[in-house]
Amino acid sequence: MPSGGCRRREARGILRLCRPIVPTNRVELRSTDSPFGFAQGKLRRLSPHSRLEHLLKTFTTIDEMRSASRAARRAGKRLGFVPTMGALHEGHLSLVRAAKASCELVASSIFVNPTQFGPNEDLAKYPRSFERDRELLEREGVELLFAPSVEEMYPTAADRACPELAEGSVRPTPVTWVTVEELSGKLDGRSRPDHFRGVTTVVAKLFHIVEPDAAFFGQKDAAQVAIIRRMVRDLNLPVEIVVCPIVREADGLAMSSRNAYLDSEQRKQALVLRRSLMRVQELVDAGERDAGRLAAAGREAIAGKRSVRLDYFEIVNPDTLDPVEVVGGTVLVAVAAFVGTTRLIDNLLLGRGSG
Ligand code: AMP
Repeated sequence: MPSGGCRRREARGILRLCRPIVPTNRVELRSTDSPFGFAQGKLRRLSPHSRLEHLLKTFTTIDEMRSASRAARRAGKRLGFVPTMGALHEGHLSLVRAAKASCELVASSIFVNPTQFGPNEDLAKYPRSFERDRELLEREGVELLFAPSVEEMYPTAADRACPELAEGSVRPTPVTWVTVEELSGKLDGRSRPDHFRGVTTVVAKLFHIVEPDAAFFGQKDAAQVAIIRRMVRDLNLPVEIVVCPIVREADGLAMSSRNAYLDSEQRKQALVLRRSLMRVQELVDAGERDAGRLAAAGREAIAGKRSVRLDYFEIVNPDTLDPVEVVGGTVLVAVAAFVGTTRLIDNLLLGRGSG
């Protein structure tokens, strides 16, 4: 369980990292009555025909999406954008709320991007719940939704006429990639080669299609944040990157669409990721500054759980993702581990007040 102090630190982080969040039309999710857990939980208090329904326009083609966002910008509206892979949970919705709080119009996308999945990863079984997601976004007041097919985003894949494409099991290979060298091979990039190349390629495409003024990402994917920031800087993309704090379940587990894969025993085991980060926080609070010793203590916490296999536990500079020797200024404590076959990540920013 996160301590009260920790919760307070997280709450302060929200205020620091994002503009004030105004919860609008908040929807409650029930986690207990679904075998899939929170991410697939049932909706409560959603009327079948929401009062806001007419406000959410859904586009499946690039041309339609681009025309809609250009029209909004011509009208002088600040356009916020929240890219997602769907299977939405409160973490995603926190980004939407941050976007709503600082932008006059909000667009979101739902696209399970095949190019960021490795050959043996979970592309085919990744949770998909489009109608439910659409309803949630509508409730939050999102105005524009981009939900393209794989063929629309990667037409060269369609040229190859792969019958499996519709099932989401084929990874198209675009000829043009957007790659942030070096950073893309660090943290998750070490055990997921090509993952970040897929992320930066699809995010660059989405930025060109939607042309947002601001785009909202979660601190949950800390390496992704560093890499996207670097891409935006290096390519002079005219978009502000806003990073929002990690949203957690009541017991501290970072919300993730992949939590739906965990059975009840694994769900308990998964809490060790957060506990390993809290162990580091405790030692830092007690005065320890040696990153090697701190990381060793984090690894030790994970090693205590036989059913959890550590991928990495590192203390790094949050911008370069390079390991630090001493904890001072802002550092990122990041962990990735397999619980059963499910790979989970979590992190803690020390010195900037984010959970
Ligand atoms: P995904 O659908 O997993 O690609 O995530 C879409 C966006 O939601 C990314 O910017 C993630 O970092 C963000 N996100 C996912 N989980 C959380 C969470 N628990 N708290 C905050 N943001 C999150």
